[in-house]
Amino acid sequence: MNQMYSELVCPVGKFPLRQDSDMLICTNCGAGFKIIDSIPDLLIEDIILPAGIKDISKLKCFSSVL
Ligand SMILES: [Zn+2]
Repeated sequence: MNQMYSELVCPVGKFPLRQDSDMLICTNCGAGFKIIDSIPDLLIEDIILPAGIKDISKLKCFSSVL
């Protein structure tokens, strides 16, 4: 994993992220975040939900926080 992104965590559940080409993927909930011009977009509004998840409140990280 790129050292640059190793400190970043999922904005929903604060779990570590792994890099997958031009995306960062949460190791807990599977949510994706695009890396645009080397800058990860960790805004909740721009989250890429994993397959089968229709709403952010259904993410594993979401329920881990509550
Ligand atoms: Zn997560």
